[in-house]
Amino acid sequence: MKTIAVVGVGYVGLVTGVCFADLGNRVVGLDIDEEKIGRLRRGEPPIYEPGLAEMIARNRAAGRLSFTTSYAEALAEAEFVFIAVGTPAGVDGEADLKHVRAAAESIARAMVAPLIVVNKSTVPVGTGDWVADIIRSKQPRAIPFSVVSCPEFLREGSAIADFMHPARTVLGSLDLEAMAKVARLHLPLRAPIITTDLRTAEMIKYASNAFLATKISFINEIANICEELGADVKEVAAGMGYDPRIGSHMLEAGLGYGGSCFPKDVKALAFMAAQKGRHPQLLRAVMDINADRRPMLVEKVRELLGDLRGKTVGLLGLTFKENTDDLRDAPALDVARMLLGEGAKLKAYDPVGMRAAEALAPEIEMAEDPYELAAGADALVVSTPWNEFKQLDLARIREVMRRPILVDGRNLYDPATMKRLGFVYRGFGRGYGPDGAPGEEVAA
Ligand code: NAD
Repeated sequence: MKTIAVVGVGYVGLVTGVCFADLGNRVVGLDIDEEKIGRLRRGEPPIYEPGLAEMIARNRAAGRLSFTTSYAEALAEAEFVFIAVGTPAGVDGEADLKHVRAAAESIARAMVAPLIVVNKSTVPVGTGDWVADIIRSKQPRAIPFSVVSCPEFLREGSAIADFMHPARTVLGSLDLEAMAKVARLHLPLRAPIITTDLRTAEMIKYASNAFLATKISFINEIANICEELGADVKEVAAGMGYDPRIGSHMLEAGLGYGGSCFPKDVKALAFMAAQKGRHPQLLRAVMDINADRRPMLVEKVRELLGDLRGKTVGLLGLTFKENTDDLRDAPALDVARMLLGEGAKLKAYDPVGMRAAEALAPEIEMAEDPYELAAGADALVVSTPWNEFKQLDLARIREVMRRPILVDGRNLYDPATMKRLGFVYRGFGRGYGPDGAPGEEVAA
């Protein structure tokens, strides 16, 4: 049993802490957000993540997991401290490291014994060395420590499974002994462990996220071409994905990427390149293509509905992806703002994101369920691919709508089925072949 402190119990830190506790370690989760810590102490998870509530309860009951706002308490017996604070985008796209700096300073002041500082936050290349400098300069007395980079690759919505069964663990440090100790913590996960230097580990995270974002923008570019040429991007992606050199993941055309990672990480990598005089032309294209997706959806709604003033549009989904309550850079909220800007009336339904969305966008009227959402709507927009939307009674939806228009930002439905059900249906990259788009008569 090792004693681990986790600084920042957000989406990454909380899952990391809870999973390490579940692996038999003693974990203290620390956050400066008193409300969050209060909720965790009452056994209420502050975020929605499948399976997390049960795991928190189990490990608290076993005495392996506790929460605090005090660095002194968190570090009193810790051998490892994981930093998992946010690294949002700054004004020019660079990663804003104010939380990392604050965490490093607090660790320096509170540590009482030798410590391995493990950085899980996604941070610009060179940050590990910078963190070491901060700790060294802020320590009241010199206590040995090492910094190890251990970037996190989990996905919200499947975070526990991703943490427990990672494709790989990446570690970076010049201190081989410290890195070996962190590697031992991860051995129960039985995943390949890649050990390298600090900067390379930090870069692996950015390069991985940028590559995944590139796949999404690539398939969206293909979708645009499919749309013009009468091919179906869903089948194109399936046909491509069987090739192991390509792989089937991240090939869903539609509204593009959002959330708290890809947008800021691609921007931050482009910033790092530009700062060193390199022109990150591929990364810029990835961002440009992605930026077009949301207005493109609004354009599809406008094409079918005409002037949007006074028209009621229902959004199926608010969160940036399914199985999470995270609304950070959610495409749905952007689309909502654009539609509202054109005078539409907005309604929405989301299985878990509605309460938080009310605070961000009070103009959106929330519906009890998808059928209430559809009642009287002039158009529906699928903005988040929640599983429950795949199983809707579409005939019933069609019946209660004022106009049978459905714009599918996630390509959930089959155009031919939608046509049979009487919908005017538009997906992304669904070239409709010789039959034309659902809801349109094609001249013989
Ligand atoms: P988050 O905003 O959900 O959580 C960050 C937490 O840190 C918050 O609870 C905040 O109160 C706390 N915090 C801020 N400053 C602090 C301080 N000085 N001391 C203690 N706590 C402090 O962020 P997140 O989504 O968990 O992301 C954390 C990092 O992990 C980011 O760098 C992100 O890029 C990276 N990451 C995120 C994901 C993801 O899916 N969310 C996946 C992989 C990597």
